[in-house]
Amino acid sequence: MPSHLSMEDIYRHACEVIPGGVSSPVRAFGSVGGTPVFLKSAEGAHVVDVTDRRYVDLVCSWGPALLGHAHPEVVRAVQEAATRGLSFGAPTTAEVDLADLIRARVSFAEKVRFVSTGTEATMTAIRVARGATGRDVIVKFAGCYHGHSDALLAAAGSGVATAGLPGSAGVTAASAADTLVLPYNDTDALEEAFATRGEQIACVITEAAPANMGVVPPDPGFNAAIRRLTSEHGALMILDEVLTGFRVGAAGWWGLEGAPEGWAPDLVTYGKVVGGGMPLAALAGPARLMDLLAPVGPVYQAGTLSGNPLATAAGNATLRLADAAVYDHVDRASLVLQDAVGAALSEAGVAHRIQTAGNLFSVFFTEEPVRTYEDAKAQDTFRYPPLFHALLEAGIALPPSVFEAWFLSAAHDEAALDRIIEALPAAARAAAQARPA
Ligand SMILES: *Cc1c(COP(=O)(O)O)cnc(C)c1O
Repeated sequence: MPSHLSMEDIYRHACEVIPGGVSSPVRAFGSVGGTPVFLKSAEGAHVVDVTDRRYVDLVCSWGPALLGHAHPEVVRAVQEAATRGLSFGAPTTAEVDLADLIRARVSFAEKVRFVSTGTEATMTAIRVARGATGRDVIVKFAGCYHGHSDALLAAAGSGVATAGLPGSAGVTAASAADTLVLPYNDTDALEEAFATRGEQIACVITEAAPANMGVVPPDPGFNAAIRRLTSEHGALMILDEVLTGFRVGAAGWWGLEGAPEGWAPDLVTYGKVVGGGMPLAALAGPARLMDLLAPVGPVYQAGTLSGNPLATAAGNATLRLADAAVYDHVDRASLVLQDAVGAALSEAGVAHRIQTAGNLFSVFFTEEPVRTYEDAKAQDTFRYPPLFHALLEAGIALPPSVFEAWFLSAAHDEAALDRIIEALPAAARAAAQARPA
């Protein structure tokens, strides 16, 4: 496209050739209004739009940019890999190296299968669970997002909530009928489901710590209860760490909760950080389950670009660089920003609540604890668009939906945080003045 066009012109043309002008719905600003910002580059804590405006970025590509955008060593690894060939459709040692790095962090992850997206990882984990148990029904929790495969699109949090859709058109009644959706953090509902349909349930899939309906951490003991009930009834527990994995800590959310409490899921899924910004995701677990996958076992799964050499180069470089200092930095930056957001909203008299899961946090416009998707939807969502646009105007890019976590990186230094902190009071006042539509 010609370089002199305004953002509105670009968006208009994009909408003529791409549905909604975007390749993934939340990017379209549907829930905050206005024209989506088309980006051309990113570096460290910043993104740059096509008109050369620079923003402090709190999206971080929805998580992958743990080290900051375009980390020089990650970029170099990808460039070097590219000179050796973009894709072979044959095994490489880089995949073995990445599996070794994951195993070194996550003890129960004996074997790893690489795919290209989180959607494929959870879809495959479900297939393994059905293959392993010979059962059909899967249990998921309302507000948890596990990608856009048919079986997992029921009550799926941010993207779907943002679009205001109950689920999705194009999903058959048959595939929806095999998905049981329960309220999050509700152990009684899970016990009841197992009491009535226990012999049909192949697996329970849960976000390790949900962050796709805003950040709604598991109540103490909830994940452990999933573990106990699935074991008692011969079902598998799938811990979806596509978002939390290698972001909230070296061994993901499991490293913060499961390891200290002494439980592990049967299968875990990774995406986002594990690919360092390239299309790469994975599922992992004990050999006895992972070896159900073809070519060893009867559960089929494949991918032309799976384990792609550029993606594994980015993943290997990212995991090697993501050391304790990186996690310490992101943890501390998150605390600084949480304090600043809370102070600005309090000062402006906006009822709010900040919820965290490790270094992930999000802001809810309510003072009531948010433990379920129903709670999350009951907040004053109308306060978010003015906050979002005031910050965007000030050169701060928040996620374009109230139902998302705010993402930080190791590149968010004091200068970047100060820019956000300076912009917060005016943005909080804009939120205070908002009125329901
Ligand atoms: C992002 C996400 C997915 C889907 O991953 P894609 O790569 O977008 O397909 C699945 N589960 C969780 C928890 C996620 O946050």
